[in-house]
Amino acid sequence: MSVAENLNALRSAIPANVRLVAVSKTKPVKSIQEAYNLAQRIFGENRVQELTQKQPLLPNDIEWHLIGHLQKNKVKYIAPFISLIHSVDSFELLETINKEAAKCGRTISCLLQFHIAKEETKFGLSFEEAVALIHSEKFREMKNVKICGVMGMATLTDDESIVRKEFRELQGIFTTLKEQDFRNSKDFKELSMGMSGDYKIAIEEGSTLVRIGSAIFGERA
Ligand SMILES: *Cc1c(COP(=O)(O)O)cnc(C)c1O
Repeated sequence: MSVAENLNALRSAIPANVRLVAVSKTKPVKSIQEAYNLAQRIFGENRVQELTQKQPLLPNDIEWHLIGHLQKNKVKYIAPFISLIHSVDSFELLETINKEAAKCGRTISCLLQFHIAKEETKFGLSFEEAVALIHSEKFREMKNVKICGVMGMATLTDDESIVRKEFRELQGIFTTLKEQDFRNSKDFKELSMGMSGDYKIAIEEGSTLVRIGSAIFGERA
């Protein structure tokens, strides 16, 4: 299947209220340009070095999303242009993003990443950590970041009931935070969940942003 066929198939499977992040990690600029030419505008990368190499070679109206674990010392390289950081998994990282955004005269949109999977290796906050962050004085003083919602990755398993349960848990976290802390926020509206293997379940459970790589560009090496 070509990128065009894959994108068309996904577009008919994804409802209009859900946005597609085309995850282009490890894929060449040529493949990104191909999807761009088919009107895809949101692309996701998980590594800063790869992203900063590709970004200058591609059109300016691409909305770049950082979806992978982000080290504090790398924030400065993406702060000038990044549209959305999905992977805020610590208070210190959010502080750094705020500081680097201020230096660029920008406000950077962020999602809080939650640990919902069974795997030890997946990054993310617990609900308690997120609440402590949101209620802190320091957070209230951050003027250059905007919390737009939450992100999570389900366990890599063929057992759909586990995946669905984890997405439901993330949806619950989203709704609780919305009601408790972001009732008056127009920005807090994104629920980033779902990848190539589980996006259909994610959409059924309320996803607004699906992050899809291999189902567009083919398997990664
Ligand atoms: C790689 C990656 C994806 C996309 O994975 P596919 O299975 O190729 O769709 C989504 N989210 C994150 C955080 C990723 O690292």
